[in-house]
Amino acid sequence: MSWSVKTLKPSSPAARSPSAWGPRGSAPATIPARLTFEKVSHGFGDTQVLKDFSLDVAPGEIVCLLGPSGCGKTTLLRLAAGIERLDQGRILIDDTVVSGPTAFVPPERRGVGLVFQDFALFPHLTIFENVAFGLRRLPAAEAKSAAMAALQRVGLAAMAEAYPHVLSGGEQQRVALARALVPRPNVLLLDEPFSGLDKRLREEMREETLSILRETRTTCVMVTHDPEEAMRMGDRIAVMRRGQLVQLGPAEALYENPADVFVARLFSEINEIPCVVKNGKLCLGIADFFGDLSNVDLPENGSVILGIRQQDLVITDAHAPDHEAMLSQTYPKSLPGRVLSVKFLGDFALIEIAVDGLDLPLMARTTQCEAPPVGRNVTVSVEPEDVQAFSADDLDDLKN
Ligand code: ATP
Repeated sequence: MSWSVKTLKPSSPAARSPSAWGPRGSAPATIPARLTFEKVSHGFGDTQVLKDFSLDVAPGEIVCLLGPSGCGKTTLLRLAAGIERLDQGRILIDDTVVSGPTAFVPPERRGVGLVFQDFALFPHLTIFENVAFGLRRLPAAEAKSAAMAALQRVGLAAMAEAYPHVLSGGEQQRVALARALVPRPNVLLLDEPFSGLDKRLREEMREETLSILRETRTTCVMVTHDPEEAMRMGDRIAVMRRGQLVQLGPAEALYENPADVFVARLFSEINEIPCVVKNGKLCLGIADFFGDLSNVDLPENGSVILGIRQQDLVITDAHAPDHEAMLSQTYPKSLPGRVLSVKFLGDFALIEIAVDGLDLPLMARTTQCEAPPVGRNVTVSVEPEDVQAFSADDLDDLKN
Protein backbone atom coordinates (compact mmCIF):
# COMPACT_ATOMS: atom_id res chain seq x y z
CA MET A 1 0.00 0.00 0.00
CA SER A 2 1.26 3.49 -0.71
CA TRP A 3 -0.01 6.97 -0.18
CA SER A 4 0.80 10.17 -1.91
CA VAL A 5 0.69 13.36 0.03
CA LYS A 6 0.62 16.83 -1.34
CA THR A 7 2.73 18.82 0.98
CA LEU A 8 5.61 21.25 1.06
CA LYS A 9 8.81 20.00 -0.49
CA PRO A 10 11.55 19.16 2.01
CA SER A 11 13.22 22.46 2.55
CA SER A 12 16.53 23.77 3.85
CA PRO A 13 17.36 23.24 7.54
CA ALA A 14 16.65 26.94 8.11
CA ALA A 15 13.12 26.49 6.83
CA ARG A 16 12.72 23.64 9.32
CA SER A 17 13.58 25.76 12.34
CA PRO A 18 10.82 25.81 14.97
CA SER A 19 9.51 29.17 13.79
CA ALA A 20 8.97 27.72 10.30
CA TRP A 21 7.03 24.73 11.59
CA GLY A 22 4.06 26.88 12.28
CA PRO A 23 1.43 26.05 14.84
CA ARG A 24 1.41 22.43 15.90
CA GLY A 25 -1.77 20.45 15.94
CA SER A 26 -2.92 18.73 19.06
CA ALA A 27 -2.64 14.98 19.41
CA PRO A 28 -5.82 12.94 19.85
CA ALA A 29 -6.26 11.31 23.24
CA THR A 30 -5.84 7.56 23.57
CA ILE A 31 -7.69 5.29 25.95
CA PRO A 32 -4.99 4.70 28.53
CA ALA A 33 -4.63 1.18 29.85
CA ARG A 34 -3.23 -0.31 33.05
CA LEU A 35 -0.01 -2.27 32.56
CA THR A 36 0.81 -4.88 35.17
CA PHE A 37 3.90 -7.03 35.59
CA GLU A 38 3.16 -9.85 38.03
CA LYS A 39 6.12 -11.76 39.48
CA VAL A 40 7.93 -11.71 36.15
CA SER A 41 11.07 -13.86 35.88
CA HIS A 42 13.00 -14.23 32.66
CA GLY A 43 16.42 -15.38 31.51
CA PHE A 44 18.56 -16.17 28.53
CA GLY A 45 20.29 -19.56 28.72
CA ASP A 46 21.81 -19.85 32.17
CA THR A 47 21.56 -16.12 32.86
CA GLN A 48 18.62 -15.08 34.99
CA VAL A 49 17.86 -11.48 33.91
CA LEU A 50 14.57 -10.66 35.67
CA LYS A 51 13.68 -12.06 39.07
CA ASP A 52 10.21 -11.89 40.50
CA PHE A 53 9.60 -8.41 39.11
CA SER A 54 6.22 -6.84 39.89
CA LEU A 55 5.03 -3.37 38.86
CA ASP A 56 1.61 -1.85 38.31
CA VAL A 57 1.45 1.17 35.99
CA ALA A 58 -1.83 3.07 36.32
CA PRO A 59 -3.74 4.27 33.24
CA GLY A 60 -2.17 7.51 31.96
CA GLU A 61 0.79 7.24 34.30
CA ILE A 62 4.43 7.70 33.24
CA VAL A 63 6.82 5.32 35.03
CA CYS A 64 10.56 5.56 34.42
CA LEU A 65 12.66 2.41 34.77
CA LEU A 66 16.02 3.50 36.12
CA GLY A 67 18.99 1.25 36.66
CA PRO A 68 22.50 0.38 35.55
CA SER A 69 23.37 -1.20 32.24
CA GLY A 70 22.35 -4.86 32.03
CA CYS A 71 19.82 -4.79 34.89
CA GLY A 72 17.01 -5.94 32.61
CA LYS A 73 15.18 -2.73 31.65
CA THR A 74 15.01 -3.39 27.91
CA THR A 75 14.09 -7.03 28.48
CA LEU A 76 11.10 -5.86 30.52
CA LEU A 77 9.92 -3.62 27.65
CA ARG A 78 10.43 -6.38 25.09
CA LEU A 79 8.34 -8.73 27.22
CA ALA A 80 5.58 -6.12 27.56
CA ALA A 81 5.61 -5.51 23.80
CA GLY A 82 5.46 -9.25 23.08
CA ILE A 83 8.77 -9.30 21.19
CA GLU A 84 10.07 -11.75 23.79
CA ARG A 85 8.15 -14.65 25.33
CA LEU A 86 8.02 -14.74 29.09
CA ASP A 87 9.53 -17.54 31.24
CA GLN A 88 7.48 -17.06 34.42
CA GLY A 89 4.86 -14.71 35.80
CA ARG A 90 2.21 -12.71 33.96
CA ILE A 91 1.88 -9.42 32.11
CA LEU A 92 -1.56 -7.84 31.92
CA ILE A 93 -2.93 -4.94 29.92
CA ASP A 94 -6.02 -3.86 31.78
CA ASP A 95 -7.60 -7.20 32.70
CA THR A 96 -6.22 -9.16 29.76
CA VAL A 97 -3.27 -11.48 30.31
CA VAL A 98 -1.04 -10.73 27.31
CA SER A 99 1.85 -12.94 28.46
CA GLY A 100 1.59 -15.79 30.91
CA PRO A 101 1.89 -19.53 31.33
CA THR A 102 -1.17 -20.18 29.16
CA ALA A 103 -1.56 -16.96 27.19
CA PHE A 104 0.36 -15.01 24.58
CA VAL A 105 -1.16 -12.10 22.70
CA PRO A 106 0.97 -11.27 19.62
CA PRO A 107 2.64 -7.83 19.55
CA GLU A 108 0.33 -6.34 16.90
CA ARG A 109 -2.76 -7.10 18.99
CA ARG A 110 -1.50 -5.62 22.27
CA GLY A 111 -2.08 -1.93 21.48
CA VAL A 112 1.47 -1.19 22.57
CA GLY A 113 3.73 1.39 20.88
CA LEU A 114 7.52 1.16 21.06
CA VAL A 115 10.20 3.79 20.53
CA PHE A 116 13.80 2.58 20.49
CA GLN A 117 17.00 4.39 21.31
CA ASP A 118 18.14 4.28 17.67
CA PHE A 119 14.76 5.49 16.29
CA ALA A 120 14.60 2.43 13.94
CA LEU A 121 12.93 4.30 11.06
CA PHE A 122 12.56 2.44 7.76
CA PRO A 123 15.20 4.06 5.50
CA HIS A 124 13.42 3.16 2.26
CA LEU A 125 10.13 4.75 3.32
CA THR A 126 9.39 8.48 3.39
CA ILE A 127 8.71 10.21 6.69
CA PHE A 128 5.01 10.08 5.94
CA GLU A 129 5.14 6.39 5.04
CA ASN A 130 7.09 5.65 8.21
CA VAL A 131 4.43 7.32 10.34
CA ALA A 132 1.55 5.76 8.42
CA PHE A 133 3.12 2.30 8.62
CA GLY A 134 1.08 1.23 11.64
CA LEU A 135 -2.18 2.39 10.04
CA ARG A 136 -2.27 -0.09 7.17
CA ARG A 137 -5.61 -1.47 8.30
CA LEU A 138 -7.31 1.93 8.06
CA PRO A 139 -8.87 3.29 4.86
CA ALA A 140 -6.19 5.30 2.99
CA ALA A 141 -7.84 8.71 3.48
CA GLU A 142 -8.22 8.17 7.22
CA ALA A 143 -4.66 6.88 7.57
CA LYS A 144 -3.32 9.85 5.62
CA SER A 145 -5.14 12.36 7.73
CA ALA A 146 -4.05 10.69 11.01
CA ALA A 147 -0.40 10.42 9.92
CA MET A 148 -0.30 14.03 8.72
CA ALA A 149 -1.91 15.20 11.97
CA ALA A 150 0.79 13.31 13.94
CA LEU A 151 3.54 14.85 11.82
CA GLN A 152 1.98 18.25 12.30
CA ARG A 153 1.97 17.65 16.06
CA VAL A 154 5.70 16.97 16.12
CA GLY A 155 6.39 19.92 13.79
CA LEU A 156 7.50 17.89 10.77
CA ALA A 157 4.55 18.03 8.37
CA ALA A 158 6.71 19.93 5.88
CA MET A 159 9.13 16.98 5.73
CA ALA A 160 6.51 14.33 4.95
CA GLU A 161 7.99 13.46 1.55
CA ALA A 162 11.60 13.39 2.68
CA TYR A 163 13.50 10.22 3.60
CA PRO A 164 14.84 9.66 7.13
CA HIS A 165 18.52 10.18 6.20
CA VAL A 166 17.98 13.90 5.55
CA LEU A 167 16.68 14.47 9.08
CA SER A 168 18.72 15.37 12.14
CA GLY A 169 18.75 13.01 15.17
CA GLY A 170 16.13 15.10 16.96
CA GLU A 171 13.89 15.16 13.90
CA GLN A 172 14.19 11.39 13.44
CA GLN A 173 13.28 10.96 17.08
CA ARG A 174 10.17 13.09 16.55
CA VAL A 175 9.18 10.90 13.59
CA ALA A 176 9.68 7.77 15.71
CA LEU A 177 7.45 9.28 18.38
CA ALA A 178 4.77 10.24 15.84
CA ARG A 179 4.93 6.72 14.35
CA ALA A 180 4.48 5.10 17.77
CA LEU A 181 1.65 7.41 18.81
CA VAL A 182 -0.38 7.55 15.62
CA PRO A 183 -2.11 4.16 16.07
CA ARG A 184 -3.16 5.52 19.49
CA PRO A 185 -1.53 2.82 21.59
CA ASN A 186 -2.97 2.06 24.99
CA VAL A 187 0.56 1.79 26.33
CA LEU A 188 3.73 3.43 25.01
CA LEU A 189 7.15 1.94 25.77
CA LEU A 190 10.16 4.22 25.32
CA ASP A 191 13.64 2.68 25.43
CA GLU A 192 16.19 5.39 26.17
CA PRO A 193 14.61 7.53 23.49
CA PHE A 194 16.80 10.59 24.02
CA SER A 195 20.20 9.07 24.69
CA GLY A 196 21.47 9.60 21.12
CA LEU A 197 20.77 13.34 21.23
CA ASP A 198 23.00 16.15 22.42
CA LYS A 199 22.16 17.86 25.71
CA ARG A 200 20.09 20.76 24.35
CA LEU A 201 18.14 18.63 21.91
CA ARG A 202 17.59 16.02 24.61
CA GLU A 203 16.00 18.59 26.89
CA GLU A 204 13.83 19.92 24.06
CA MET A 205 12.68 16.41 23.10
CA ARG A 206 11.95 15.47 26.71
CA GLU A 207 9.66 18.47 27.12
CA GLU A 208 8.02 17.82 23.76
CA THR A 209 7.47 14.15 24.54
CA LEU A 210 6.14 14.92 28.00
CA SER A 211 3.63 17.40 26.61
CA ILE A 212 2.45 14.90 23.96
CA LEU A 213 2.12 12.14 26.57
CA ARG A 214 0.07 14.40 28.83
CA GLU A 215 -2.06 15.55 25.93
CA THR A 216 -2.76 12.02 24.70
CA ARG A 217 -2.97 10.63 28.27
CA THR A 218 -0.94 7.62 27.15
CA THR A 219 0.25 5.13 29.77
CA CYS A 220 4.01 5.11 29.38
CA VAL A 221 6.99 3.13 30.63
CA MET A 222 10.29 4.77 29.79
CA VAL A 223 13.73 3.24 30.23
CA THR A 224 16.59 5.51 31.18
CA HIS A 225 19.82 5.38 33.12
CA ASP A 226 19.81 9.11 33.69
CA PRO A 227 18.34 9.88 37.15
CA GLU A 228 17.64 13.51 36.22
CA GLU A 229 15.68 12.39 33.17
CA ALA A 230 13.70 9.97 35.34
CA MET A 231 12.93 12.75 37.82
CA ARG A 232 11.81 15.12 35.06
CA MET A 233 9.66 12.64 33.17
CA GLY A 234 8.29 10.09 35.61
CA ASP A 235 5.19 10.31 37.78
CA ARG A 236 6.97 7.48 39.55
CA ILE A 237 10.42 6.00 39.22
CA ALA A 238 11.10 2.26 39.44
CA VAL A 239 14.73 1.71 40.42
CA MET A 240 16.03 -1.68 39.25
CA ARG A 241 19.14 -3.62 40.07
CA ARG A 242 20.04 -7.07 38.81
CA GLY A 243 16.61 -7.79 37.47
CA GLN A 244 14.77 -6.79 40.62
CA LEU A 245 12.74 -3.81 41.72
CA VAL A 246 14.71 -2.02 44.44
CA GLN A 247 12.42 0.95 45.08
CA LEU A 248 9.32 2.50 43.51
CA GLY A 249 7.90 5.95 44.10
CA PRO A 250 7.74 9.60 43.08
CA ALA A 251 11.12 11.31 42.62
CA GLU A 252 10.84 13.26 45.86
CA ALA A 253 10.19 10.15 47.96
CA LEU A 254 13.18 8.34 46.47
CA TYR A 255 15.40 11.37 46.97
CA GLU A 256 14.31 11.96 50.56
CA ASN A 257 14.14 8.33 51.67
CA PRO A 258 16.37 6.17 49.50
CA ALA A 259 15.95 2.46 50.25
CA ASP A 260 19.69 1.84 50.21
CA VAL A 261 23.01 3.46 49.47
CA PHE A 262 22.69 2.48 45.82
CA VAL A 263 19.48 4.51 45.40
CA ALA A 264 20.96 7.40 47.41
CA ARG A 265 23.96 7.52 45.07
CA LEU A 266 21.67 7.70 42.03
CA PHE A 267 20.03 10.90 43.17
CA SER A 268 22.83 12.82 44.92
CA GLU A 269 26.55 12.97 45.43
CA ILE A 270 26.99 11.78 49.00
CA ASN A 271 29.79 11.51 51.53
CA GLU A 272 29.84 7.91 52.75
CA ILE A 273 31.28 7.29 56.21
CA PRO A 274 31.53 3.61 57.13
CA CYS A 275 31.25 2.81 60.81
CA VAL A 276 30.42 0.09 63.29
CA VAL A 277 27.43 0.20 65.65
CA LYS A 278 27.63 -1.52 69.04
CA ASN A 279 24.70 -1.61 71.44
CA GLY A 280 22.95 1.00 69.29
CA LYS A 281 25.89 3.48 69.49
CA LEU A 282 28.34 4.54 66.77
CA CYS A 283 31.90 3.38 67.40
CA LEU A 284 33.53 6.43 65.88
CA GLY A 285 35.76 9.08 67.47
CA ILE A 286 33.65 11.85 65.95
CA ALA A 287 30.27 10.21 66.71
CA ASP A 288 29.06 13.40 68.46
CA PHE A 289 29.31 15.27 65.19
CA PHE A 290 26.26 13.44 63.86
CA GLY A 291 24.00 14.52 66.73
CA ASP A 292 21.58 12.10 68.38
CA LEU A 293 20.61 10.41 65.07
CA SER A 294 17.13 9.76 66.45
CA ASN A 295 15.82 10.12 62.88
CA VAL A 296 17.77 7.16 61.48
CA ASP A 297 17.27 3.46 61.90
CA LEU A 298 20.50 2.17 63.39
CA PRO A 299 20.89 -1.55 64.02
CA GLU A 300 21.66 -2.60 67.58
CA ASN A 301 24.92 -4.10 66.33
CA GLY A 302 26.45 -4.16 62.84
CA SER A 303 28.09 -2.08 60.14
CA VAL A 304 26.48 0.99 58.63
CA ILE A 305 27.30 3.70 56.15
CA LEU A 306 26.42 7.20 57.23
CA GLY A 307 25.50 9.29 54.22
CA ILE A 308 25.59 13.09 54.01
CA ARG A 309 24.82 14.89 50.74
CA GLN A 310 27.61 17.19 49.62
CA GLN A 311 25.25 20.17 49.62
CA ASP A 312 24.13 19.46 53.21
CA LEU A 313 27.57 20.08 54.71
CA VAL A 314 27.93 23.64 55.96
CA ILE A 315 31.40 25.15 55.78
CA THR A 316 32.32 28.21 57.82
CA ASP A 317 35.55 30.13 58.01
CA ALA A 318 37.23 29.26 61.32
CA HIS A 319 38.83 32.74 61.42
CA ALA A 320 35.63 34.75 61.03
CA PRO A 321 35.03 36.96 64.15
CA ASP A 322 31.45 35.81 64.90
CA HIS A 323 32.11 32.22 63.85
CA GLU A 324 31.85 30.51 67.28
CA ALA A 325 28.68 32.35 68.27
CA MET A 326 27.02 31.72 64.92
CA LEU A 327 27.80 28.03 64.98
CA SER A 328 26.70 27.36 68.53
CA GLN A 329 23.32 28.93 67.74
CA THR A 330 22.75 26.87 64.62
CA TYR A 331 24.49 23.51 64.86
CA PRO A 332 24.89 21.29 67.91
CA LYS A 333 28.27 19.89 66.88
CA SER A 334 30.96 20.89 64.41
CA LEU A 335 34.30 19.57 63.30
CA PRO A 336 37.50 21.46 62.53
CA GLY A 337 38.91 20.83 59.06
CA ARG A 338 41.27 22.19 56.43
CA VAL A 339 40.52 22.88 52.77
CA LEU A 340 42.54 20.57 50.52
CA SER A 341 41.17 21.61 47.16
CA VAL A 342 38.49 23.70 45.51
CA LYS A 343 37.11 22.91 42.08
CA PHE A 344 34.88 25.26 40.13
CA LEU A 345 32.11 23.20 38.52
CA GLY A 346 29.92 25.87 36.99
CA ASP A 347 26.83 26.14 39.20
CA PHE A 348 28.79 25.34 42.36
CA ALA A 349 32.27 24.85 43.80
CA LEU A 350 33.32 21.42 45.10
CA ILE A 351 35.42 21.68 48.25
CA GLU A 352 37.56 18.85 49.59
CA ILE A 353 38.12 19.07 53.34
CA ALA A 354 40.42 17.00 55.55
CA VAL A 355 38.81 16.33 58.93
CA ASP A 356 40.52 14.82 61.99
CA GLY A 357 38.97 11.48 62.84
CA LEU A 358 37.98 10.53 59.29
CA ASP A 359 40.15 8.48 56.94
CA LEU A 360 38.79 10.12 53.81
CA PRO A 361 38.21 13.81 53.15
CA LEU A 362 34.66 15.16 53.08
CA MET A 363 33.32 16.79 49.94
CA ALA A 364 31.08 19.85 50.23
CA ARG A 365 29.39 22.19 47.75
CA THR A 366 29.03 25.93 47.99
CA THR A 367 28.54 28.73 45.53
CA GLN A 368 31.81 29.82 43.95
CA CYS A 369 31.82 33.17 45.78
CA GLU A 370 31.42 31.44 49.18
CA ALA A 371 34.21 28.90 48.55
CA PRO A 372 37.10 29.20 51.03
CA PRO A 373 40.64 29.21 49.62
CA VAL A 374 42.84 26.10 49.68
CA GLY A 375 44.67 25.70 53.01
CA ARG A 376 42.07 27.67 55.02
CA ASN A 377 40.99 26.30 58.41
CA VAL A 378 37.24 25.80 58.38
CA THR A 379 34.49 24.35 60.50
CA VAL A 380 32.24 21.64 59.08
CA SER A 381 28.68 21.27 60.38
CA VAL A 382 25.56 19.31 59.50
CA GLU A 383 21.97 19.23 60.68
CA PRO A 384 21.25 15.84 62.34
CA GLU A 385 18.23 15.32 60.06
CA ASP A 386 20.50 15.53 57.01
CA VAL A 387 22.38 12.38 58.07
CA GLN A 388 21.15 9.09 56.58
CA ALA A 389 22.21 5.59 57.60
CA PHE A 390 22.35 2.62 55.25
CA SER A 391 23.15 -0.99 55.84
CA ALA A 392 26.76 -1.76 54.89
CA ASP A 393 25.56 -5.15 53.60
CA ASP A 394 24.19 -3.30 50.55
CA LEU A 395 27.72 -2.20 49.67
CA ASP A 396 29.03 -5.76 49.92
CA ASP A 397 26.16 -6.80 47.68
CA LEU A 398 27.15 -4.16 45.10
CA LYS A 399 30.74 -5.42 45.04
CA ASN A 400 29.65 -8.97 44.20
P1 ATP B 1 21.18 -1.22 28.99
O1 ATP B 1 20.88 -0.08 29.90
O2 ATP B 1 22.64 -1.41 28.76
O3 ATP B 1 20.37 -1.20 27.71
P2 ATP B 1 19.32 -3.08 30.21
O4 ATP B 1 19.07 -2.83 31.65
O5 ATP B 1 18.28 -2.59 29.25
O6 ATP B 1 20.75 -2.56 29.79
P3 ATP B 1 18.89 -5.65 29.01
O7 ATP B 1 19.11 -5.18 27.61
O8 ATP B 1 17.50 -5.97 29.41
O9 ATP B 1 19.53 -4.65 30.06
O10 ATP B 1 19.81 -6.93 29.22
C1 ATP B 1 19.88 -7.61 30.46
C2 ATP B 1 20.81 -8.77 30.33
O11 ATP B 1 20.26 -9.73 29.45
C3 ATP B 1 22.18 -8.42 29.74
O12 ATP B 1 23.16 -9.13 30.44
C4 ATP B 1 22.08 -8.85 28.31
O13 ATP B 1 23.36 -9.25 27.81
C5 ATP B 1 21.17 -10.06 28.41
N1 ATP B 1 20.37 -10.23 27.18
C6 ATP B 1 19.45 -9.38 26.69
N2 ATP B 1 18.89 -9.87 25.56
C7 ATP B 1 19.48 -11.07 25.33
C8 ATP B 1 19.33 -12.09 24.33
N3 ATP B 1 18.47 -11.96 23.35
N4 ATP B 1 20.12 -13.18 24.44
C9 ATP B 1 21.00 -13.35 25.44
N5 ATP B 1 21.18 -12.43 26.43
C10 ATP B 1 20.44 -11.31 26.37
